[in-house]
Amino acid sequence: MTVKTQIKELSELLEEYNYQYYVLDDPSVSDSEYDHIFQKLQKLERENPDLISPNSPTQKVGGIALTKFEQVTHRIPMLSLDNVFEAQALTDFMQRAIDKSANAETAFCIEPKLDGLAASIIYENGLLVQAATRGDGQTGENVTENVKTIANLPLKLRGENIPPLLEVRGEVFMLKAGFNKLNEGLIKAGEKPFVNPRNAAAGSLRQLDSKVAASRPLAFYCYGVGVFAGDFPDSQFERIQQLKGWGLPVSEEVKRVVGNDNCQAYYQAIQKKRPNLAYEIDGVVYKVDNISVQDKLGFVARAPRWASAYKFPAEEAVTVVENVEFQVGRTGAITPVAKLQPVFVGGVTVSNATLHNKDEIERLGILIGDQVVVRRAGDVIPQVARVLADKRDPETTREIEFPTVCPVCQSSVERIEGEATVRCAGGLYCEAQRKEAIKHFASRKALDIDGLGNKLVELLVDQKMIQDPAQLFSLTTAQVSSLPRMGETSAKKLINSLQVSKKTTLARFLYSLGIREVGEATANNLASHYKTIEAIESAGIEDLKSVSDVGEIVAKHIYYFFRQPHNIEVVSKLIAAGIHWQEIAEVKESELPLLGQTFVITGSFDKMSRSDIKLALQALGAKVAGSVSKKTSTVVAGEAAGSKLTKAQELGINIMDEDAILTLLNS
Ligand code: NAD
Repeated sequence: MTVKTQIKELSELLEEYNYQYYVLDDPSVSDSEYDHIFQKLQKLERENPDLISPNSPTQKVGGIALTKFEQVTHRIPMLSLDNVFEAQALTDFMQRAIDKSANAETAFCIEPKLDGLAASIIYENGLLVQAATRGDGQTGENVTENVKTIANLPLKLRGENIPPLLEVRGEVFMLKAGFNKLNEGLIKAGEKPFVNPRNAAAGSLRQLDSKVAASRPLAFYCYGVGVFAGDFPDSQFERIQQLKGWGLPVSEEVKRVVGNDNCQAYYQAIQKKRPNLAYEIDGVVYKVDNISVQDKLGFVARAPRWASAYKFPAEEAVTVVENVEFQVGRTGAITPVAKLQPVFVGGVTVSNATLHNKDEIERLGILIGDQVVVRRAGDVIPQVARVLADKRDPETTREIEFPTVCPVCQSSVERIEGEATVRCAGGLYCEAQRKEAIKHFASRKALDIDGLGNKLVELLVDQKMIQDPAQLFSLTTAQVSSLPRMGETSAKKLINSLQVSKKTTLARFLYSLGIREVGEATANNLASHYKTIEAIESAGIEDLKSVSDVGEIVAKHIYYFFRQPHNIEVVSKLIAAGIHWQEIAEVKESELPLLGQTFVITGSFDKMSRSDIKLALQALGAKVAGSVSKKTSTVVAGEAAGSKLTKAQELGINIMDEDAILTLLNS
């Protein structure tokens, strides 16, 4: 293919995507795919400048003003922004600005890149008289009536020195919570949901019926000024503050910053904050703060040279499902996992995505070999968001077949009525379930066995050293230190923490057994209701249901758990191995000298671990809390205790060091 044809094809593709995105508010490809094609075209054009057509998508602002609205001609064109996707490109942008202004201390106004659509709003003598979309940058749509319904936007400015003419520019967007609610409603009504808040905002703003727009949770933030009459500060940051002063909404996150390090740090910081913001942002916009320098830098076809958008790594990307594998969890649940062609999404390379269960596979309509959109937002586990069914090739795709036996132990599989999950019936015979059960048993909220991590559990099971949690307690230092990458010292430590973990509470012990649906809270309720393990073992379903938080399903899980000879055997083996707790029924008030007192433990200790101190205090009736307040009776402070100790000192709370607490416990 010649470069010319390539350029033509890429341009046509982008035109089509623009149409779907800007006119229909219904994109068919992800933004990252669009950006990727856009960059490809930009590169070809850079290498072949004589082939650049003035109509190329790289030379104009993407939108189109629909004729169903009255048209508005912008007095100053509304441009797009140039994008950068990595730290170095931002540094380069900043350097160009610094060179142009001949000032190393050039300040940048940094703003979150709100993910909505641009609007121009004109106030005459402080009254909102016109609002328009960006359109193609020259001509937009008159959406005044709809914009007037935006709750946080004033129809009348307030404060001093209001100019006779003021064009405010900013972003109309939809709050995340409102977006989710809107989509739920649309789905319920049998209508098509919006792909993302940006498209929802665009679709809502461009409603012919302003009553519909009014019902949509739209919001607005200002980020600039167009035409105006009167004086304005010569700084982007100060202009925004001025707008704020007249009652216009401005994002709290806008900052003025000098220096590359500070600019990069802002990007990192706001990326962390992003999941907790009430609105979507898709990057950070850096603008040269000084307006005279902005004017010197000017603009190119579709974007100013004085601003740059540093985009976050896309949260969605397209890849191919190469295979589907099945993983067996602690309770035997068999989870299909899509093995993906590795793809960079949400800042990491992703090669697996959970498909949850059969229902999810049906909902997605996914086949092996399909192209899919993978989504990873924040630290959330990657998901397959949707399947690109129209790109499906019947030659290279095939149905996902669910295993009829467990892929690990070959036991039969079962699907309980009304449940989406398929399970391996092998119980602890299944090596996968065994590993997961032991990991759970050792976990922090269960027996809290220090030094027994997931890898080590897998190794111990693989080496056939243990088959159930009870066998952990017959491990010897020699056995453990024979394992790869295990020294004598860590082996000894493990054996020691196994000993320490034997002293526990009934609630933790119950939780550690991994009974389905019995989490920490339920285990606590069961322990305080029944007080002994025997009472729980012999309780009937109806009786179990009288415990708070225990319904029919949970009661059945508990009942049947204790009807499996295998489980009864593990429980008695564990007790025989020395696991013990103070039977709640036996405890008299007089034996709980710390009843009613609240302790906070902070810092590190030499002679006893933090969790042991906690257990010992709880056994004496004390409550152990995580933070210091006026209600705290005593703070136990070890080495390097920090803010909790300071707070205790400030509040004048009793403080004990390690020796003091040991003396108290021993007495
Ligand atoms: P853009 O969204 O990358 O950047 C420009 C826009 O950012 C401005 O017009 C404004 O609306 C907004 N913005 C938010 N905060 C701002 C701030 N603080 N200061 C200034 N502006 C701010 O560019 P665009 O031209 O609106 O859209 C192009 C992008 O849209 C593409 O990069 C792509 O991600 C997406 N797109 C996707 C498809 C698709 O099919 N998926 C099609 C077309 C465009």
